[in-house]
Parts: sequence; structure tokens; C-alpha cells
Amino acid sequence: MKKSYNYIIQGAGASGLWLAYWMHKEGLLDDKTLLIVECDKSKQNDRTWCFWGDQMIQDLSFVDFSWSQVQVFGESQRIDPYTYYHCRSEAFYTFVKNAIGSSGQIDWCFGRVTSNSQIGGRVSVDIQIDNDASVESLNVVTDWFFGSGGASVKSSEIGLWQSFVGWRVKSKPGVSLFNSDACTLMDFGIEQTGKTRFLYVLPFSGEEALIEVTQFDKEILGLEEGQRLLQEICDKRGWDISVIELENNAIPMSSIFDALERFYAPDKRIVSLGVMAGALKPTTGYGFLRMMQHGRSIALALKNNALIPTLYRKKRFRFYDDLLLRILQKHPNRGKQIFDQLFQHQSASNVLRFLNEKTNLLQEIMIFSRLPKRLFLRTLFAKWMN
Ligand SMILES: Cc1cc2nc3c(=O)[nH]c(=O)nc-3n(C[C@H](O)[C@H](O)[C@H](O)COP(=O)(O)OP(=O)(O)OC[C@H]3O[C@@H](n4cnc5c(N)ncnc54)[C@H](O)[C@@H]3O)c2cc1C
Repeated sequence: MKKSYNYIIQGAGASGLWLAYWMHKEGLLDDKTLLIVECDKSKQNDRTWCFWGDQMIQDLSFVDFSWSQVQVFGESQRIDPYTYYHCRSEAFYTFVKNAIGSSGQIDWCFGRVTSNSQIGGRVSVDIQIDNDASVESLNVVTDWFFGSGGASVKSSEIGLWQSFVGWRVKSKPGVSLFNSDACTLMDFGIEQTGKTRFLYVLPFSGEEALIEVTQFDKEILGLEEGQRLLQEICDKRGWDISVIELENNAIPMSSIFDALERFYAPDKRIVSLGVMAGALKPTTGYGFLRMMQHGRSIALALKNNALIPTLYRKKRFRFYDDLLLRILQKHPNRGKQIFDQLFQHQSASNVLRFLNEKTNLLQEIMIFSRLPKRLFLRTLFAKWMN
């Protein structure tokens, strides 16, 4: 390891690796050096990512499944121009490591960044390396520091959580339970008990699927309760399955990370990535594609000596998210009605376009006009009064 680098990335997760990938692709690492610092030595398949898009990067070899249809109220609908993609995180980590592996300009360090501070035009970074027998402390300087992971959010700052408890399941040999042509994004036909809960189904074949209970609520859905719900769903639907993998986590549904400016100040050398940069849309928790796009736009800005972009979102989309979060927080039992009405009156591809923040104002007025108007107006009024 050197004492000085051009770039340091904290975290070899989604956003850190996307940035490293684009730095390499854009030729930044032909003559500049990069250090990637990751604190989790045993990082492997720690999650699955899904995302939808119409224009993708050409090489999607890390994607292992995709769907061009979704199930809405029991019927399949095409989602043109979109495709819904699924990948396992370990496939994505390997994809990026293979892509950047040929660069002799990248060093890897398994350690924890404990502090970073900008001094003049450079950033001083402290790293702690935990060897089995001892702890080693290092100081490295860099022209640019990109930080992901380590978001410290107080629970009290989070109004709502998106929790998920999922099983990757297999049916008995030869028994086809699922239709692998179409995935199900939001099936509200499950127990709500005063919260917003839905089932998410990604069928990989007739015999194998990921089935996941997702909950929007102030409380995190416990593993035991989540598994009870999954078992109940399987029993009710007559799905005789065995569980081959478990996924359980919770992400904050909050706008506290939202970027309020479009660019970093010209002299700023410490840049946030991923969740900390506001990559996750507060009302959906999707962010993988935005991290890909952010990584690319940062690499291009560095290449062209331009201002570094944030993950700024248009004000009106931040406003819609804020409104929906307020409703779900105050009336968690109304989520089912809102989303059911949304999918009843809009095609699934319209909903995906809206969630991608690619609709125009007129389309948004049409969407909101079919949702429970009094509830939205009451919430809007209460927001203004505060
Ligand atoms: C289980 C799960 C499933 C998800 N599914 C989807 C999905 O389907 N689609 C979607 O769009 N989004 C999804 N998300 C949301 C989001 O895309 C992920 O959370 C994504 O991994 C966030 O990327 P990130 O780079 O911010 O953080 P991470 O991917 O978590 O990467 C941060 C990395 O930094 C490391 N790190 C942290 N602190 C330090 C430190 N001080 N020093 C060195 N290294 C450090 C961590 O070990 C980690 O490897 C999911 C989230 C979870 C938790």
C-alpha cells in the first residue's frame, strides 16, 4: 500500500464498486491510483438486488434473471419499455472485480476507515486494520475521498422502516407452483394488521422462487413474525415448499439523506456515495440503478474536470415522497388502499415510470387524481400548517 493516492473509496458495496467500475471504464485509472477500503473481510452474497430499466449498460452478465411482465391482481401485464432485473450481490462483486482486475493502479485494503478530513486540497484518511493478533493504524492521503456505508442514523430520525423477510423456496420435484414469466411486485392480499404489508414474488422457474413479505411501518418486522406470515401464506396458497435461503433486513424510509444541491462545492474533496448520498428513493428503497448512474456521472466529471454531481432529485418528486411517507406514518393501515388504487388505474409500466421519476406533471396529476383525494389533501393541509 502507498502513502498517497489519487482516489480512495470507502466500501466495496454497490455504490463503491460502481464508482470503481466507471473510473476504470472511463480511463481514469490509466495514470491515477485508487485505494478501495472494505471493512468486511468475509463479504459474499449478502443481498440480492432488483432494478428495472429501459437503457442498460451493455454488459449485464451479473444479472441472473429478468422479467418483462408483472402480475397485477392475478393478471400478467407487460412492462414495456422496461425489464425487471435480478442479481445476486456476489455476482455483481465478481463482475466488477473481474472488470477492474486488469488495472495495476488499484490497491485493496481490508480495514475500517475511522476518520477522514480535508486539509487544503487533499484528504487525510485514517484506517484501522484488524489483524487476528493486533490492530494496525494507518494514515493515507488522497486527492479525492468517496465514502459509502457507515451511515449513522438515529432510530428516532427514522419515521418509517421498510422491512423484508424473504425465503428462497423450492417446491417438491416436478411440482410447478410459480409462473416464471411474470414477477409480483406488490400483492396486498396478505394479513395487514394495521400496517402496510405486501408479498413480493420473484419466480425463477415453476419450482423455485423468492417469496418476501415486505412491511412499511414505524416498527421493524421481526424475523419470527415475518416467517410466521410466510408460512401462513404458503399454507393458504397450498405451496408445499422447502426453504433454501433466508433474506432478512430493514432499510430506513427517510428523506434525511436527500441531496439539496445539484453539485458539490468546487473545493470539496469528500464525496458521499450510495445510501449516504441519498441513493435510495425513500418510498420504495430502490437505489441500485441510481448508484450505477451516480458512479458513472462522478467518473465523467472527474475526467472532464467538471463539478461533482450529487444525487439531486427534482423538488416535486421529493414532495410526493414526503407526502406519502407522512400518510404511511400517520395512517399505516391506508397503504393497501393507496397502492391498490394506484395499480387499478395505472398500467404497471406507468407506475414504474412514475417511481423512476420520469413522468411529467400532467401524468402525475392524472395519477394523483385516482388516489384517495381527501387523505392526500388532509395530509397536505397538515404539512402546510406545521
Ligand atoms: C437486504 C437488502 C436488499 C436490497 N435490495 C435492493 C433491491 O432489490 N434493489 C435496490 O435498488 N436496492 C436494494 N437495497 C437497497 C440498496 O440498494 C442497498 O442497501 C445497497 O447495498 C446500498 O449500497 P451502498 O453502497 O450505499 O452500501 P453497501 O452496499 O452496504 O456498501 C457499503 C460497504 O461499505 C463497507 N463499510 C462500511 N463502513 C466502512 C468503513 N468505515 N470502512 C470501510 N468499509 C466500510 C461495508 O462493509 C459495505 O461493504 C437492498 C438493501 C438491503 C439491505
